[in-house]
Amino acid sequence: MHVLRRLLVTLLVAIVGGPSMSHAADKLKVVATTADLAAVARAVGGDDVDVTALARPTEDPHFVDAKPSFIRIVNQADVLIEGGASLEAGWLPPILDSARNSKISAGSPGRVVAAQGITLLEVPTQLDRSMGDVHPQGNPHFMLDPVAAKTVARSIVTAFCAVDHTRCAGYQDALSRFDTAIDGKLLAWQATLAPFKGTKVVTYHKDFDYFAERFGLEVIDTLEPKPGIPPSPTHLTELIPKMRAEHARLILIEPYRERSNPDFVAQNTGARVLVLPAMPDGKDAPDYIALVDSDVRQLAAALGEKPARP
Ligand SMILES: [Zn+2]
Repeated sequence: MHVLRRLLVTLLVAIVGGPSMSHAADKLKVVATTADLAAVARAVGGDDVDVTALARPTEDPHFVDAKPSFIRIVNQADVLIEGGASLEAGWLPPILDSARNSKISAGSPGRVVAAQGITLLEVPTQLDRSMGDVHPQGNPHFMLDPVAAKTVARSIVTAFCAVDHTRCAGYQDALSRFDTAIDGKLLAWQATLAPFKGTKVVTYHKDFDYFAERFGLEVIDTLEPKPGIPPSPTHLTELIPKMRAEHARLILIEPYRERSNPDFVAQNTGARVLVLPAMPDGKDAPDYIALVDSDVRQLAAALGEKPARP
């Protein structure tokens, strides 16, 4: 009898799962294309979500090395968060086709297109993919603007609530805390960069424009002649005198860029190269707020130094 009861208990536990097992299995499976979107999803999802980022933080989000494992991950997702505005156009569509997951198909409650809530910069008047421009729908790098990140957090919570309504109140509470944290930090970030308002900078790619606009820097040009097109001698020959004339002080580049062109331009203009992460990396910048904190601090330190040019 005793043995029978023990067997019965074992069987019941196997069927319904132990307390921790059931919670783990119960978590929303969230897939984000990039580390910044994943970080915001974790901030508003907390312990109720299991978030996977497809692209590594050290990868260019336009040109991600799409692994076969992505298909299984996307196939099992309850929610998929993409940047949109063609950010992932070069690698995500075939993965979605192969994954065959109706929960995250276009227009489903489990699909978040972050760009849909954002007023995009640099929207072309004509759709033009000629010359390889990877921003045919406008600039998709809005996540470094903390105010845009709040909008994206709201879109993510809308999706979480739609697919997991029993825990909606918890997601809403986390969203309020995220908003409050950003609002509190924003004043400090703006104060830190206020002395450098109007400073002219050059970037490698057009991915610091929203950040620059929020914090009062002026991006006068990019090393790339067009988004996604590598720097060319012709373009750099025009860029160098322009940077000298306008006294551009910094060349902002992401950690995954080559250094030969930025260093060449720096040597010929007196501007400094500053490597500035655009994605949380789980180490130095473990979450979204830490990323912006770190970028603001590094920028202020670089601009606070005496210019290299006499
Ligand atoms: Zn881009």
